[in-house]
Parts: sequence; structure tokens; C-alpha cells
Amino acid sequence: MKYCEYCKVYTREDRENCPLCENKLENINEEHEQIFPKIPSIYKRNLALKIMGFISIALIVLSFAIYFLFPSNINWPILVLFGLLSVWLDFFFLIRKKHICLKK
Ligand SMILES: [Zn+2]
Repeated sequence: MKYCEYCKVYTREDRENCPLCENKLENINEEHEQIFPKIPSIYKRNLALKIMGFISIALIVLSFAIYFLFPSNINWPILVLFGLLSVWLDFFFLIRKKHICLKK
């Protein structure tokens, strides 16, 4: 954090000059810099998502394998595929709009 003596303002940006008066900014101690925690803009994918992805792919492969081993009139592995696709789409939109998760 930097400080302008002329304007008496603090700036959080890493500038050399004051944005208001263009005078040189002074560095101040680091105590004021950690007022708010840094929140990452991109969340890391956790283990549960990886496990769910693996289970989904395994289910699709398994359903197609069973269908080719025991053919039937109904092409039900496509239904499994679209069912999992709809689950993942729902899950994706729930994660993106997690603040209104209960509303969904
Ligand atoms: Zn200034």
C-alpha cells in the first residue's frame, strides 16, 4: 500500500505516482496491506469432481460395453449418456450460481 502526502490518500495499486495529483507516492508499512484476505478468482477443482468425472466416464463405457455384449432393441446407453450429461449440466450451473443454490 502506498500513501500520498499531498492528497492524504492510500492507494492499493502498485503505482509510482498518485492518481490524483501525480506526485510521488510513499511506501508505508505492510500492516495495512493485509486488511482483506485475498480470494482466488478461480477455484481449484477438488477431488470430488474428479471422482464424479471418473465414475461418469466409467458408467458410460460400462453401459456401452454391456449393450454391445447383450444387444437389445432399445438403445439404452444413449439414455445413460444423456442422463449423465444433464446431471453434469445441472451441476455446472449450480456451481456457477452457487449463491442461489437453494433457489435452484
Ligand atoms: Zn496525491
